[in-house]
This record gives sequence, structure tokens and C-alpha cells, in this order.
Amino acid sequence: MQFAPTLPVIFSSYNLVGECNSPLRFLKSAQTTVSLIHVIFDLMSHDVILSVQSLQIDFQQEGETHTAVKGVSFDIRAGETLALVGESGSGKSVTALSLVRLIPTPPVHYPSGKITYVQKNGKSVDVLLMSDQQMQSIRGKEIACIFQEPMSALNPLMTCGKQVIEMIRQHESIDYNLAREKALRLFNEVKLPMAEHMLDRYPHELSGGQKQRVMIAMAIACEPRLLIADEPTTALDVSMQGVIIDLLKELQAKYKMAILFISHDLNVVSALAQHIAVMYKGEMVEQGTCDSLLNNPQHPYTKGLLACRPNIKVRVNHLATLNDFLDPKKHTKVAEAISHTTFNNRIASFASSKPLLELHDVSIVYNQKSSWFGKKSAGVQAVNRVSLMLHEGSTLGLLGESGSGKTSIGKALVRLNNTSEGAMLYKGQDIQNLRGNALNQYRREVQMIFQDPYAALNPRMRIGDAIEEPMHVHGLHGAKQRHDKMHELLALVGLHSDQAKRYPHEFSGGQRQRIT
Ligand code: ADP
Ligand code: MG
Repeated sequence: MQFAPTLPVIFSSYNLVGECNSPLRFLKSAQTTVSLIHVIFDLMSHDVILSVQSLQIDFQQEGETHTAVKGVSFDIRAGETLALVGESGSGKSVTALSLVRLIPTPPVHYPSGKITYVQKNGKSVDVLLMSDQQMQSIRGKEIACIFQEPMSALNPLMTCGKQVIEMIRQHESIDYNLAREKALRLFNEVKLPMAEHMLDRYPHELSGGQKQRVMIAMAIACEPRLLIADEPTTALDVSMQGVIIDLLKELQAKYKMAILFISHDLNVVSALAQHIAVMYKGEMVEQGTCDSLLNNPQHPYTKGLLACRPNIKVRVNHLATLNDFLDPKKHTKVAEAISHTTFNNRIASFASSKPLLELHDVSIVYNQKSSWFGKKSAGVQAVNRVSLMLHEGSTLGLLGESGSGKTSIGKALVRLNNTSEGAMLYKGQDIQNLRGNALNQYRREVQMIFQDPYAALNPRMRIGDAIEEPMHVHGLHGAKQRHDKMHELLALVGLHSDQAKRYPHEFSGGQRQRIT
């Protein structure tokens, strides 16, 4: 959008060059040509608002140095979207957080590299050399962020409205009522339903998509020049992903913001980005325009990323992982599809065996109160007569838009919820009636992983201990065996043994999900 005010200058100077029929005019036009060159030069150099050059990011802990990012370089241009793509743990978040210096030093260190940011007033600043106070004035006003886990960025004890109002008043000296009006306008702008009512709600009363809208409202409050969006749609269901991406596009056009959009999913970013940069194990392996990268990927890792989405038409032995694409020998094995006969036989064997899990007309109603006379109030019907079956060794996908009751069923299965009607059977036994030993046995056999892994991990417990804890609670194995098992499990999900000593916040979102 920088182009708009400068275009008339370019046109008027072209006119002058074209009409130079007197010496004075010629001189004047020569002058204008010089200034024209200046303008173009300015335009080109100003176009880039953030430039990262050979940035290395180290973590120093207990005397050990771990290099998370190994010399990456990229530019972000005004009003454009750059997508930073790569698998979990590749260094995307650490890079993004460094742009606004959100990781404390120590543990983080920047042994080499430079981050240059051009402020709204045109002044360039060296981000890594700025004082904490100077940094404060950049965050929010110039560069704002939204994250994958909005719950961890929102204060659970404060209403959503109050959080937005406080944030507005931190940056603008306006009174409470004006700030509330602005918050309401922002809530409408991010299309929160019943915006007025939402101001007085607490974060836990909102769905994932709504919480992310609150975060976006806070991010755009000060009309930033650059929005860093770190996997803002990863924790959302597919239909909500699309809605949030459309909203971001709309706000980007309105506020003329540049966006650094971080994702592990190339398909998601293709809907939004003009440029894509691919990271792998802390390095930038490839970058280019969205078109060239998607249609003609060069690096095997990028090719793998593009192909690692499951194809519902082809049934394969196991889903491809990125490692499979880096190793061409494996690649052929992965591509091997299961024949129709094998697949049909498998289905037939399921049909003849007894299901492991059965749900018969299960309903779940929240906040249902019984009156003195035993009459029940309506409550919120989350699940309405659902029946399904799951066979041993098979996977059942439960799909539906947010709020359709998927998690409620999951929680009822691990007895975090009660069902109101219907039966849930595990190996033929009613789950709701399990007691004592049978219940303990059930809890060992049926486990749940959650959408937001951060909420499921104790932030003060090293992850090695967290993995050993359930084995301890259930009295499985001796201390040494538990320890060995923990290391074995870590390796199974692709993490290193020496990461057992780390705390949850020291992992990326995807790594945390692998831990839970
Ligand atoms: P992602 O690409 O998934 O966003 P991250 O940038 O979060 O990955 O992580 C990159 C690497 O840095 C990972 O190996 C991660 O374990 C490590 N890391 C992230 N945060 C910390 C921290 N606070 N302390 C130590 N290591 C960290
Ligand atoms: Mg991340």
C-alpha cells in the first residue's frame, strides 16, 4: 500500500521528462528524474519492513548450549503475507518470538545475526540491540502476535472485555467507557456473535474459534504494521480454520498489515500467503513465492510437506511422515497402497468380531438441574442420541464443526463427563457403572489426549517425570523399568532422551502434543 501516495509523483515526473523543450525545463526535469530515482529506491528499500539476516538462536541451560535456529534469513514486505512453514520443533515459533524478543535472555542467546525492523514513522531499528523499554513500545503498537493456544494467552480470571479494555488503555490514554466502546467495535469487527454479551464472558465460556477472535481483536487494537500469527488455526477444526483465515485476510486489507503466518501445513498457508519460507531442523531450506513453491518445490522436505496430507482415496499401510520423504528408499514403501481385497478383508474381520467400544443412543446434557419434584430443567444438549462402534486396532474419526459434541463424547468415555441417557460399553461392560478394580483397569486401558496439550501438562514438572507419573499411579513396573519405559516412549514419538529433563514450556506446541 506504500505505492498509492508515490504513484502521482512518478506520473508527474514522467510528464516533465517527456515535455523538456527548454534548458530550464530540462534542468528541472533532470532534477525530477533524480528525485524519481530516489523515490523508487526509497520505495524498494522501504517496502521491506522486517529483515532477518543470518539469525542464530541458542538456548543455554545447565551449562549446555542447544542451537534451535541455525542462521536463517528472510524479509517481510509491507502489507504482504509471508508464511513460515515446517514440522513441529523446526524452529518457527522460536524465530517468530525472537522478532519481538518474547523469549527471555537467558536462556535464549543470539550469537550472530541481525533483525531490522522499519517502524511506522519510517525509522529503522535493530531489534536485538533495543532496550526492554524500547521493545515494549514496539510490541502491540507496531508488531502484534496471536498464538496457537489462545487459552494460554488469555487470563482465565478476567472477562474477555476487561482484557481487551486493559490492553487498549495500556497503549492509549482514553477513559474506561471509550475503551469499552472501542472493544465492542473490535469484537464486532472480528465477528464475535453477540459482541456486547461477549465482553462480559470469561475465556473458558468461549469456543476455541471465539477465543481466537478475542485474541485477534486484541492484536489489531493498535493497528499494528505487522501481525505475527503463530499457528492461529492449528487447534481449530477445519471449517473454523477457513473462517479465521478469511477474517485475517479481511483485516489485513483493511489495516494494510503485513502478516507472518506460521503453520506446519502448506495447504493452509496457500490460501493466504504471497511468499513462503520452509524451515527444517532450525534451517531455512527453501523460500520463494507461493506459486513457485507449491507448484515446483525443490527441496525433498518441501515435497514431503506437500504430500504428507492423507489422501482419502488411497489407503496406505501407514501415513507418510516427513522422514519417509527424506529417505527415497522408504518413500516407495510408503506409497504402497493397500489393495482393495486386503482392505475389504479387514472390514469383514471387523464386522465379525465383537466391537471394543459401543455407544448406544448416548445423550449428554450440561447444566441440567432437577427440581424438588424430580422435574429436570432443559440444560444444554451437547450430544443427542449418538450411536457408534469401534473395533480393536482400528481408528474411528469423529468429525464435526466446533460445538457439535465431539469432545463431550471423548470426555464421557474417560468419565470426565456423565451421560444423561443411553449406554456406553467397553468390552461389553457399561463404562458408567465401573467401580473399584474394574475402573482402575479401564483407566489404564483407555487414555485421552487433548486439543490443548499445554493445559494437560504440569508446568512445574519435568516431562520425564510427567511421563513416568501415570505408570507410578497405576503401580506399573519398578522405578528402573519406568525410567527405561519413559525413554523408550520419548524415542517412539521422535524426541531425544536428554529432553526428559526439560519443562513443558521448553517444547514447541507439536512436541508438547507428542508428549501428552
Ligand atoms: P516450532 O517450529 O514447532 O514452532 P519451536 O520454534 O517451538 O518449534 O522449537 C524449536 C526448538 O527449540 C525445539 O527443539 C524446541 O525444543 C526448542 N525450544 C523451544 N523453546 C525452548 C526453551 N524455552 N528452552 C529450550 N529449548 C526450547
Ligand atoms: Mg510452534
